[in-house]
Amino acid sequence: MTTIKLHNTRTRGKEVLNPINPDDVRLYLCGPTVYDRAHLGNARPVVVFDVLYRLLRHVYGTDHVTYARNFTDVDDKINATALARKEAGAPGTLEELVQERTEETISWYLADMAELGALEPDHMPRATAYIPQMIAMIEELIAKGHAYADGAGHVLFSVKSYKDYGALSGRSVDDMIAGARVEVADNKRDPMDFVLWKPSTDELPGWDSPWGRGRPGWHIECSAMSHELFGDSFDIHGGGNDLMFPHHENEIAQSCCAHPEGDFAKIWLHNEMLQVEGKKMSKSLGNFFTVRDLLDQGYPGEVIRLVFLQTHYRKPMDWTDKKAKEAEATLRRWRALTTGINPAPTASVAVIDALSDDLNTAGALAELHKLASAETAADLLTSARLLGLLTDKMGTWSQGENHDLSHHEKSLFDARQVAIETKDFAEVDRLKTALIAAGVEVRMSKTGVELVPGPSFDASKLDAI
Ligand code: AMP
Ligand code: ZN
Repeated sequence: MTTIKLHNTRTRGKEVLNPINPDDVRLYLCGPTVYDRAHLGNARPVVVFDVLYRLLRHVYGTDHVTYARNFTDVDDKINATALARKEAGAPGTLEELVQERTEETISWYLADMAELGALEPDHMPRATAYIPQMIAMIEELIAKGHAYADGAGHVLFSVKSYKDYGALSGRSVDDMIAGARVEVADNKRDPMDFVLWKPSTDELPGWDSPWGRGRPGWHIECSAMSHELFGDSFDIHGGGNDLMFPHHENEIAQSCCAHPEGDFAKIWLHNEMLQVEGKKMSKSLGNFFTVRDLLDQGYPGEVIRLVFLQTHYRKPMDWTDKKAKEAEATLRRWRALTTGINPAPTASVAVIDALSDDLNTAGALAELHKLASAETAADLLTSARLLGLLTDKMGTWSQGENHDLSHHEKSLFDARQVAIETKDFAEVDRLKTALIAAGVEVRMSKTGVELVPGPSFDASKLDAI
């Protein structure tokens, strides 16, 4: 069986993945807070962990991998969007508007990630569906002396009660206090203590609990949901490296203190951040955009995916327009090569080896480039599909590629030959204008005419020429 090695943030080295149960390899990824459309950076962990999910399914079998990615549907930012809608006159209670917002955001998210070729996880737990499990876990933490209620509706986790706090990110508690500017509050026994439960107003979403009507803090949801779905120990936990502290440190503290007999997650995988044209993506720099913005501008999801895969997940990734253009040209070439070809029975060993070496997607793509010839087109197709590329579903954008334009190339070439003699270019201009209107890029040189369908290619418009 193929050996998969992954870089474990916890041990800071590459480790061989030895699943707890090879018949059920379990992977958990922290998902989005559903208050607005996913920006391009949010898509990075989705694509990275989709490649891991596909590799695990390839190695252990489709039915032997369980992938869970949550939706955080309790959050101040969601409440704020609902409040803004209510103030703008939207009908319904605040709670109904919160629910409306989370539902629409989840459906956008699933549609956008599907366009990037991401398979849906086996479980997509929503925090609001696991409140009883969170309350039970908090009660357990209080009973074991790791958490305390302040008598005013809050429950806090006592960081000092967990000696390994900070081991994941490798920082001392003092460094963390300095770096994170932790909130000092009267109800905290220690500034590092974090909220497990807090009070809610009557209008905002809230649940009855032993500490009064309230809602969970953010971190407890992943501990409670992963425990409900996977038990005390599971194989891989992932997320962006911005979540390492405090979110993942807090998840570990909660889970290991509530269930000391387990390991929680054995391997921790963190993706680096995405930037845009060399700069941090931010609204103030005007380089902030959503996945949907890019799709609407005509960047096919498959092109976005290929750009992502060119950078190793542990390196910062730069989104540039140049990369997107190059990726589009590559995919057009690969799709043209594999049109009408039956896929090979198995993916190339070199591609699987590259992916098994800590998800070396750049190395896997280098292997695909080597396979990009007529003789090995069947291998190219199967191996690219392992990476979620060249699938039938992803290919609609390039359908023009398969359209035979040679007849139009000849007409334009002949018309130009005539025009050079007669000095009358009216027919050449007419043909060119009609082709461009059909979304075709016209390339004319001394030796010939080349017609290339562009992203807006519409074959039906050629009929009128
Ligand atoms: P959020 O909804 O902010 O909790 O983010 C959802 C996921 O997107 C988390 O795993 C984050 O680590 C990840 N994420 C957010 N911004 C970026 C970025 N610029 N690059 C890569 N991942 C990001
Ligand atoms: Zn989480």
